[in-house]
Amino acid sequence: MIGVGIVGLGKIARDQHLPAITASPDFTLTAVASRNAHAEGVAAYADIAAMLAAEPDMRAVALCQPPQVRHAAAHAAIAAGRHVFLEKPPGATLSEVVDLARAADAAGVTLFASWHSRYASGVEPARVWLGGKTIRKIDIRWKEDVRHWHPGQDWIWQPGGLGVFDPGINALSILTRLLPGVVRLEKAVLEFPENREAPIAARLAMRSGAGFPIDAEFDWRQTGPQIWDIIVETDAGTLSLSHGGNALHIDGVAVELPPEREYPALYARFARLIHEGRSDVDIAPLRLVADAFLTGQRWSTEAFQD
Ligand code: NAP
Repeated sequence: MIGVGIVGLGKIARDQHLPAITASPDFTLTAVASRNAHAEGVAAYADIAAMLAAEPDMRAVALCQPPQVRHAAAHAAIAAGRHVFLEKPPGATLSEVVDLARAADAAGVTLFASWHSRYASGVEPARVWLGGKTIRKIDIRWKEDVRHWHPGQDWIWQPGGLGVFDPGINALSILTRLLPGVVRLEKAVLEFPENREAPIAARLAMRSGAGFPIDAEFDWRQTGPQIWDIIVETDAGTLSLSHGGNALHIDGVAVELPPEREYPALYARFARLIHEGRSDVDIAPLRLVADAFLTGQRWSTEAFQD
């Protein structure tokens, strides 16, 4: 069993990491480093530095804080010789993720930039079905109510918090898993509430390596039904991934899928990477988001109050 410490015991750590570690045949929870929270029955530390110093036998950490503070924590963990699981997005900038990948390589530890949506139950069957087919176009619609999913999360509206790309990057992580080549951003429009520093909505026009168009619409102002859909038109029919990748239809007919197990699958992958002495750091989803911030038109829209 690999002892793992969680850093940043907030929503995702409680909802997914704690249960996945408890059920894991590979990991055991050793400690938690969080300023305002602790987990029953394990050592608690105020920050990662204290945890690393006091837990020399803890071989891995899972970093579950907001992206803006992840690089410093990851760097400290790598320097202390620990394997690192990064929540998505792997960082607030591309250069810091590249820096971490190099540091992990040099230290001989595993760095795992996790993309949980890639482990949604419909993604692998979709990838297999698409193999060998000619894709004509892809439409992505990721529309959710920010007040419901991110109440009071100030970091998400601050620089580096990504705004609507925080969920949108999940769609981009699925997209870049489904398609073998490089996806290129052609055009983007980002809508910023006049009182916020991150976008509440975005539209991206992208193109695949094979030349077909990919349109994405991300919106945080969705009330009523929540939409996390990817529609792929091919020469052999229409593939529809919905519920964030956890439902799959081909020409309207449901495909039977295994139960959802995104985080158990992530921890199984992390264990395998550690065992094999490898890292997995794919920056393709974050690169598309960075390109949207680099080249996108910025529209100002009405102020957002939580
Ligand atoms: P969260 O609950 O707002 O934050 C996680 C914890 O990080 C907080 O409880 C806090 O713990 C610590 N933290 C917050 N701000 C910090 C700061 N400035 N410096 C140091 N620590 C800080 O966020 P979350 O929803 O769990 O998301 C965390 C990460 O997981 C994000 O990158 C997000 O994209 C990803 N994620 C979230 C979800 C989801 O459904 N929420 C799903 C998948 C992935 P202390 O105050 O106790 O230190």
